[in-house]
Amino acid sequence: MLVVLACGYALLLGRLASSRQLAYGLCSVAEDCIKLLDRRGRIIAISETGRELLEATSTSQMPGMDWLSLWETPDARAAFDKALLGKSSSFQGHCHTMTGKPRYWTSAYWPVKKANGTVVAVLCKSRNITDEVELVAELRRKSQIQRDMEDHVDVVFASASPDFEKLNHISSAFERMWELPLSAMAEDSTIWSKRVEPEDLKILRARMREAVESGRPTQAYFRLRFAGQRTKWVRADIYPVVENGSVQRVVSVCVEATEERERLQKLDFLAHYDDLTGQHNRRAMMDLLATLCKGDASFAYLFIDLDRFKAVNDSFGHAIGDVVLQTIARRIRAALPADATVARAGGDEFTVVVPCRSGNQDVAAVCRRLISACRPTIEVDDKRISMTYSIGVALYPQHAKTPESLFTSADIAMYAAKRSGKNTFRVFGDKERTDLYKIHLETEVRNAVRERQFNLHYQPQFCVHTGELVGLEALLRWNHPTRGLIYPDLFIPVLETTGLVIDVGHWIFREALRALGEFSTVGARSIAMSINVSATQLRDSRLVSMLSRAVKKRGIVASQVVVEITESALIDNLEDAQGILEGIRALGIRIAIDDFGTGYSSLSYLTRFSPNIVKLDKSFIDDIAADSLTKTVVEGVIDLAHKLGMSVVAEGVETQEQLDVLRASQCDKVQGYLLGRPGPAPDILERFALDFSQR
Ligand code: C2E
Ligand code: CA
Ligand code: CA
Repeated sequence: MLVVLACGYALLLGRLASSRQLAYGLCSVAEDCIKLLDRRGRIIAISETGRELLEATSTSQMPGMDWLSLWETPDARAAFDKALLGKSSSFQGHCHTMTGKPRYWTSAYWPVKKANGTVVAVLCKSRNITDEVELVAELRRKSQIQRDMEDHVDVVFASASPDFEKLNHISSAFERMWELPLSAMAEDSTIWSKRVEPEDLKILRARMREAVESGRPTQAYFRLRFAGQRTKWVRADIYPVVENGSVQRVVSVCVEATEERERLQKLDFLAHYDDLTGQHNRRAMMDLLATLCKGDASFAYLFIDLDRFKAVNDSFGHAIGDVVLQTIARRIRAALPADATVARAGGDEFTVVVPCRSGNQDVAAVCRRLISACRPTIEVDDKRISMTYSIGVALYPQHAKTPESLFTSADIAMYAAKRSGKNTFRVFGDKERTDLYKIHLETEVRNAVRERQFNLHYQPQFCVHTGELVGLEALLRWNHPTRGLIYPDLFIPVLETTGLVIDVGHWIFREALRALGEFSTVGARSIAMSINVSATQLRDSRLVSMLSRAVKKRGIVASQVVVEITESALIDNLEDAQGILEGIRALGIRIAIDDFGTGYSSLSYLTRFSPNIVKLDKSFIDDIAADSLTKTVVEGVIDLAHKLGMSVVAEGVETQEQLDVLRASQCDKVQGYLLGRPGPAPDILERFALDFSQR
């Protein structure tokens, strides 16, 4: 540009007209709009770039045009007049191109003088700054929007250096949220933190550091504290701005979150507390136990169950029941040390965690205090209600190490307290441990039923005189997936108490009769199948019809089936047993009295139930060879049974001597390890052809 200027001066000072050509040439290479104006402001010459910028069709269109008239503001003329006076000048302004487009320019004038100093022309250079002007306008507009937004929304925007030392920007909402003037921040940029609750500030600072270190946004909640205990919750979203691989600044957006926190607190209350009593709920207690069970500190877990609470609800109504529960909850809380936690586990049950400082003594004292706290009569309306509760205690880690097992152990101990007369407490002990084992077994047995883990083994019975195989006794087995084969003495009681024995019993009958159907087609002889029936099964009203169907389905002669019932099962179920036994007998199925001689005045039952078969218990057989008195008793029983038209089976025969005595005593059949142990059906089928006379 300077070259152009220098040339312009030289040319115009001397040979103005003759040098015009050269000026055109020089002008044409300039990037800005260069033109030479005469003293009236008309264009003498214009650069090619200038023409393009002004969107004229050709440079020849421009000479003679009044350039000053293009401008809407007087600045162009004022600066031009200055140039006419011999001074260079400049102005900024806006004019339209030849096609009418608005353009912004920054222009400079240089007076072109003759040797005597008279200004003969003015050289003008104009640069198109439309883009820059628009950009600035746009930025202004945006920052105005930003300011408007910041002023009118209750969100504090702040931008700080990564070490949070230098504050680049903070929006005006700060004044409203922090209730401090922005000028205070300008004086002391740490003043914001003085309003923050100290414990929250620690968390907030940790989060801020975390955001910078990880380069990832994070969030923090904190409280602002004002005069008169007034507080506000604030939620801060912290965004680290990463540029060129490192955090350049940190932008924070703070909004008031008081309502949000209150809502959350309410939800948290609903999730962890019981509305009726205001104590923790079951879930909160489980969470607490889960945490405590990860640590080493020992504690007692108490399960408190109100005695006869149902009666209160039933006789006084639920509203009074609720008052009773609230009163009891307050009493429990008051009787406990401050570091104990109380929860309402549901209904009329409460659970408590008490840290143990000096062992079990401590816990016993707590339980006694709890029991006496319950004692005073509760007065509601005009009613006087006396309540008691039973407490079960399990200790961590001695008795249980998981929340679930603590719960179960304390529950069992609580039931023990109820059994021993209520209004007392029991600490989980050996007795409860056995109960727990049973409970565990019960779950497993239920599972075994679902998973079909049961099967039957068969033990052969032989005729004492011919040695022929005459019958089989079906014996239940449990194929436990991890513990292997389990014998019935262990699990039959569980099947009985749970009532599962009914369904399992039906399966046993169907399975044993299916096997019998198979054996009779394989073997030549007709054999009997003995099936054991327990006390509970004697109350099963569907037993007879089920048996009838199974016998028909398998095409079995009913007398081939023997139902074995123990003496004690008969005695426990005299009424029911009689009806069901008659039904069974009516089908043609035979009845055996099992374990004969172990119980009561056995002989009277022989006449009363008139069974077809008497099974002499193993305890007799054990002594029969060595003890002559037992031998005499056995001979007497066999003789009597025969006189009553019954046959006699001796069970548990383990020695040849026992077998010899039985044969001499006219016993009919024998069963025992000497002759054959129980086994799965295929083994028994192999043994079928075999009788003991061949031994
Ligand atoms: P139980 O009816 O008196 O059955 C005889 C038990 O004595 C069987 O034990 C058998 O394996 C065992 N045994 C047989 N011979 C000998 C021997 O020579 N020596 C010895 N030491 N034992 C012998 P298991 O199978 O363990 O059955 C025990 C009890 O479980 C049975 O006594 C019966 O009361 C009950 N039980 C077995 N299966 C069933 C069933 O399917 N249903 C019901 N309700 N109870 C069953
Ligand atoms: Ca039996
Ligand atoms: Ca028996």
